[in-house]
Amino acid sequence: MHIKEVLKDLLRPAYRQYLAFNNRGNEVTCNICGRQFSGLRPVVGRHADGSLFEIQNHTGRCWLCDSYPRSRQLYYWLHNDYKILQADKIKILHVAPEVQISNRIRKYKNVDYICIDKHCEGYKYPDYVNDGDICNLEFGDNSFDMLICNHVLEHIKDDIAAMKEIKRVLKKNGVAILMIPIDFELDKTIEEAMDENLSATEREERFGQYDHVRLYGQDYFDRLKAVGFYVERISYNDELNMKYGFMPKEEVIVCKKG
Ligand SMILES: [Zn+2]
Repeated sequence: MHIKEVLKDLLRPAYRQYLAFNNRGNEVTCNICGRQFSGLRPVVGRHADGSLFEIQNHTGRCWLCDSYPRSRQLYYWLHNDYKILQADKIKILHVAPEVQISNRIRKYKNVDYICIDKHCEGYKYPDYVNDGDICNLEFGDNSFDMLICNHVLEHIKDDIAAMKEIKRVLKKNGVAILMIPIDFELDKTIEEAMDENLSATEREERFGQYDHVRLYGQDYFDRLKAVGFYVERISYNDELNMKYGFMPKEEVIVCKKG
């Protein structure tokens, strides 16, 4: 590893503590790390050409643990709705795990927890994250009580194949949490055709982000139902959205295998 990278990794925790202290307050609480702030950290996106931009209308990331709103919402659902800590022994597969959440679940004694991600060159993955392909999972049928796969399907060319694989490895009555960015103004999803191979710039122009292959519309839920899931869409009230800095339009999407 490059010396600069090593130094960055070493200094990051102290820098985050500094940012958290500088932004202390009682307006918003990160329900994952428990710290309170006067506001949240602006979310920065990257254009196809590598330049950065600040994403507007976004509630923001935690100054300390760097969580996104969607991670805080998922964490809230896991503990307050699913009541993960009170569950009997359960087996979870987490795809492309959000580190703030996986670091917690790994400590839960009642959870048999497996993490995978598609390993790409140039990226670092924690030791506990194995290489794996969501469209071709190496696990047997009916293996998991829960599968978490958030903000992944919009990157996958054959998302239906992924949904079928997710359903295959879930046990009967198992649940998959499949949150995605969605444009509620859009009735029908727009996407790259299977035989198209768009450039990063074209993808950004068409789908809003250089590495997305589609922009989901309202019919996302029909796709899930067509694969055979029972879909439950969970959102929280204004009070909770304000308190924890959730995105009011982001839903925890719970897909049950009947
Ligand atoms: Zn936090």
